[in-house]
Amino acid sequence: MSELESVIRKLEALDHRITPSRVAVIAAVLAQSGHFSVEEIMRQARAVGRATVFRTMRLLTDLDVVCRVLLEDGSLHYRVSRRGHHHHLVCVSCGNVQDLDECAVADLVRELAAATEYEIEGHWLEFYGRCASCRSPLAQAAKA
Ligand SMILES: [Zn+2]
Ligand SMILES: [Zn+2]
Ligand SMILES: [Zn+2]
Repeated sequence: MSELESVIRKLEALDHRITPSRVAVIAAVLAQSGHFSVEEIMRQARAVGRATVFRTMRLLTDLDVVCRVLLEDGSLHYRVSRRGHHHHLVCVSCGNVQDLDECAVADLVRELAAATEYEIEGHWLEFYGRCASCRSPLAQAAKA
């Protein structure tokens, strides 16, 4: 089964309607490498209305087909990912994004919930820096 089929089956299993527009958005998403913006998906699925693109992205986020990455400049991007909740390492120099395996703040969330009596529903944490290849002497020299 292709990745596209498996995402469509997942949506069907949850009683979501499968329309040609939705399939076009999902296909455009799965064709991306690296991170991408909603605008890029809208450019590739031109026939699909803006609201449908946003709704479908929301659905894919909820199903953990994609994750959201907040870039250092404040723009929100997406990435194909099947990991569930996680955080990212973002290189501010080349834009490379790496998924982190574990939630770094699970203990803190529990402590905070206990201390404040909040029911914590979510949190957002990204790490920004420069990756190993951007930190190599060669990359430094190319920049100078
Ligand atoms: Zn880098
Ligand atoms: Zn991710
Ligand atoms: Zn977390």
